[in-house]
Amino acid sequence: MKIFCVGRNYVAHAAELGNEVPDEPVIFMKPKSALLQPHAPFYYPEFTNELHYECELVIRICKNGKYIPEKFAGKYYDAITAGIDFTARDIQNDLKEKGLPWERAKAWDNSAVLGEWVNLDTVKNKDDINFCLYKNKELVQQGNSGLMIHPFDEIVAYISNYFSINIGDVIFTGTPAGVGEVVVGDILEAFVEDDSMFEMEIK
Ligand code: ZN
Repeated sequence: MKIFCVGRNYVAHAAELGNEVPDEPVIFMKPKSALLQPHAPFYYPEFTNELHYECELVIRICKNGKYIPEKFAGKYYDAITAGIDFTARDIQNDLKEKGLPWERAKAWDNSAVLGEWVNLDTVKNKDDINFCLYKNKELVQQGNSGLMIHPFDEIVAYISNYFSINIGDVIFTGTPAGVGEVVVGDILEAFVEDDSMFEMEIK
């Protein structure tokens, strides 16, 4: 299983981190060991002092493929949820400044959180999906798939030009504005439309 992630896929988020909006999707990966197992506790990592949540829509690949044309890409994913791309922002800023790879900031154990999968058949319009994140019951992030710079089909097609995609792979499709810090004791809850996808505590 592979975990792909898209960076800078919402204009307002790229702006809040002072990044320019790229023409092509920014792709990075997390290893399988980055996945927080369902119902496992999440512990604040000791190597960071600035842990950020990034709530994102995540799609699940249902068909193996390579060099997938964008017009057929919709057949390659069948489920959606919300997830968190946890980021050690202090480490990422340091690595970005030096032009180094991001893995130590983003690919560590348990840095990828996934909610319950929702079958895409039940979604009316995949280009108009609302999602949001609450921190301690307060709304902190709100997004809609229609605001993505690179929509789902384009991302799947683009990734498949470089990596074969396989059943069970997942793609974090980027975070909207409103990323921020968490501390021990915080509770995060993510929604797709009106349905809660997961609730978790930072331990
Ligand atoms: Zn992200």
